[in-house]
Amino acid sequence: MKRNRLKKDRDRETGKVNGFSTNHIERQIPPEAHTSMYVWHKYWSRKTWNVVGEYIKTYCPEGGIVLDPFAGSGITAMEALKNNRRAIVCDLNPIATEIIRLTIKPVKEKDLHEAFSRVEERVRKKIESLYLTTCRDCGEEFPFTCAIWESNKCLEIRYQTCPKCGGTCRADCELNDYDYKLLKKIESSKIKGWYPENKFYYPDGMPFKEKQQYDSVDELFTKRNLQALAWLMDAIEEEPSKGLRDFLKIGFSSVSHLCSRLLAEGRPGYRPFSGVGWNQQSYWYTPRYMESNVWDKFESAIKGHQGLLKAKVESNKKFKDIKIGSSFEQVISGNADVFIYNGSCIDLMKKMPVSYSMGSFLICGFHG
Ligand SMILES: [Zn+2]
Repeated sequence: MKRNRLKKDRDRETGKVNGFSTNHIERQIPPEAHTSMYVWHKYWSRKTWNVVGEYIKTYCPEGGIVLDPFAGSGITAMEALKNNRRAIVCDLNPIATEIIRLTIKPVKEKDLHEAFSRVEERVRKKIESLYLTTCRDCGEEFPFTCAIWESNKCLEIRYQTCPKCGGTCRADCELNDYDYKLLKKIESSKIKGWYPENKFYYPDGMPFKEKQQYDSVDELFTKRNLQALAWLMDAIEEEPSKGLRDFLKIGFSSVSHLCSRLLAEGRPGYRPFSGVGWNQQSYWYTPRYMESNVWDKFESAIKGHQGLLKAKVESNKKFKDIKIGSSFEQVISGNADVFIYNGSCIDLMKKMPVSYSMGSFLICGFHG
């Protein structure tokens, strides 16, 4: 009793409980901009990294463990690791846990670059053959940037710069005979390769979200883009190293929505090529939409200014010596720095003895 009282007094004097600070955060924390490693893959409701970091530093002692049962894209895990804490994180969504794993896992930039070049060698020309058009000024043949569709009709194609004469076609560029012929050829051929046909329904036939225009995943894409994506995935699957294949696949997933029919047309005269993306949690039906060039999107997913390679330059430095464990026990025993669990947090926490949830744990669910 005496010892406890003394410890309590000491804690009160130092503002600490069990050795860590109880000086609560009662101030505004100005958000800092997200850097490359936080933006290479879109995810819902990402939280500002430095705000999460402040909470971790305040409420979890150095060397302690942060548990996030709703990890999302893993800001909590990353901030814990950056600040010398360990982390056990969990999410139901396999894309979420894969984003976390591949943001943390180091990869040699040169290896990733070469893997991308091998995919490029295999499939770029083939994919670009689906988007060929001719320059409206000089007749040169090259792939366009995007097409504008309304319902089932392709109305316009757009390109930035003709490689021969420098001509541009940024809006109101109707299809010419060449474009109609190519489109007819694509529409009349069968898609080669695998693509997902999963229904947007639970097994009992109920839609998982409010019913919109489409019934299954493949319907979210034009036939041209479905073919391009199927070829691209085949070319990625040919990559012999599983480690590099995983990085290329998450690069693919980071732009697949940008290759879908969910992309509203950019306002004329304003962002004519990039569109506005989707802004609702349900899949979103827009009657007038952009059809992006799949190769362009994939290339920017890997090599672009918000791409994976740039993110890895940053995260390779931040997580150089981090060990990703294969069980939560490894994190608790200090043999790993992070455990990423894909599944229900209820299942995970049932496996964790009660004593583990005491002591140096900070349990939080920031989402995103
Ligand atoms: Zn030209």
